[in-house]
Amino acid sequence: MNEEIYVTKPVLPPMEEYMEYLKDIWETHNLTNVGKYTRQLMIELMQFMNSRHCLPTVNGHMALEMTIQAMELSGEVITTPFTFASTTHAIVRNGLTPVFCDIRESDCTIDPDKIEDLITDKTTAIVPVHVYGMPCDVEKIEAIAKKHNLKVIYDAAHAFGEEYKGKSISKYGDACMFSFHATKSFNTIEGGLAVVHNTKALTRVYQLHNFGIMDEENVEFVGANAKMNEFQAIMGLCNLKHFEENRLKRKEIYDYYRQELSSVEGIRMLSYDEDNLKLNYSYCPIFVDPDVYGMNRDELAEVLLSHHIHARKYFYPITSQFACYQAENYKADVPVAERLSKQVLTIPLYTDLALEDAARICNIIRDKQ
Ligand SMILES: *Cc1c(COP(=O)(O)O)cnc(C)c1O
Repeated sequence: MNEEIYVTKPVLPPMEEYMEYLKDIWETHNLTNVGKYTRQLMIELMQFMNSRHCLPTVNGHMALEMTIQAMELSGEVITTPFTFASTTHAIVRNGLTPVFCDIRESDCTIDPDKIEDLITDKTTAIVPVHVYGMPCDVEKIEAIAKKHNLKVIYDAAHAFGEEYKGKSISKYGDACMFSFHATKSFNTIEGGLAVVHNTKALTRVYQLHNFGIMDEENVEFVGANAKMNEFQAIMGLCNLKHFEENRLKRKEIYDYYRQELSSVEGIRMLSYDEDNLKLNYSYCPIFVDPDVYGMNRDELAEVLLSHHIHARKYFYPITSQFACYQAENYKADVPVAERLSKQVLTIPLYTDLALEDAARICNIIRDKQ
C-alpha cells in the first residue's frame, strides 16, 4: 500500500545546521524583537533579491495587511478573486472595498485589459497576485497605475526567489510581500517579508509591525505585533542556503509533469514566457476540461484520492464567493475566474517528491483510474 502524498510537504534543512544556531540562541536568551538573526536574515534577503527595502514579519498575511495600511489608502482597491483568502481579507481588514477584476485564461493572473473599466474616482490602488508564482503583466499594470495615479501592491506570496527579465520580482510595483509559511517554496516555519520601495512607507511598516511604538514614551500609530522571532529567522538562514538546489529539484519534477501531461486530452497546464522568467516551481495546477477529458475536476480528485494522493482545489471557491462577503455586494464580474476555479486541480509538487511518485500520478491522470 502506498503512503499518503499531499499537495506539498515543508522543506527542512539538515538538522545540524539549525542546531548550530539554536545553541547560540540558548546562550544569549535573545528570542525576538528584531534580534540579530532576524537582522541577519533581512540583510541576506536584501542581497538575495538585490533590494535594500525589506522587513521580515511573523507571517505573510501581516506583511500584506501592514503594507496596505502604510500606503494610507482609501475607497476602492482593484484585485483578483483567484487567490488565497489572505489577499482579500488584508484589503477588507484595512477598511477598503475590494473590486474584483477577472483573470487571464493563460496564467490565472489579473487581466490587465479589464482593469481600467473598473477604475472610479474612489479607486486608490491595485492589489494583483503572482498566483502560483506566475508573474502578472507587470508592465501593463505599471502603465495603468501611472496613468491613474494608483498604488500597486503585489501579493507575491507564491513568488519568492523569482525573476522577470533578469530582475527580482520584488522590484515591481510600489510594494510587495512574500509568504515564508511552511508550505511555501522558502519557509521560516511561519513568516513573511514586506518589500516597500519608498523609505518613508517602509519605516511606517516597521513601526506598525511593533505596535506603532516610536520610542519608550511615544506611540504614534495604531499598529499591531507582526515581528518575526529568532527561531523563524534561523530557519530562514538555513533554508536560504539550499533554496537554489531545492528550486532545481522542483523544476525537474515540474518539467516532467509538463512533458507527461501535455499529451493528455482535456488536461491543460499554465503557459508562460520561459525565456524571460525564473520561476520557483512550487505549484503545479492542472485544468480539467470535462467535455474533452470525459471526467470533471471533482471526479479526478476522487480518483487520485483513492490512490492516497491528495490534490487540492486551489483556488476554489474564489474569494468573492466566500460566505463572509456575500452580504457586501462587492463588484465581481469574473466569469473566467469562476470557470477556472471549477476546473483547477493542484497536484503534488515539492522538493522531496520522488519522480516515481510523479510518474504514478501522471499514469493515474492518463488512465483516469
Ligand atoms: C500563503 C499566502 C498568503 C499569506 O501568507 P501567510 O504566510 O500564510 O500568512 C497571502 N497570499 C497568498 C496568495 C498566499 O498563498
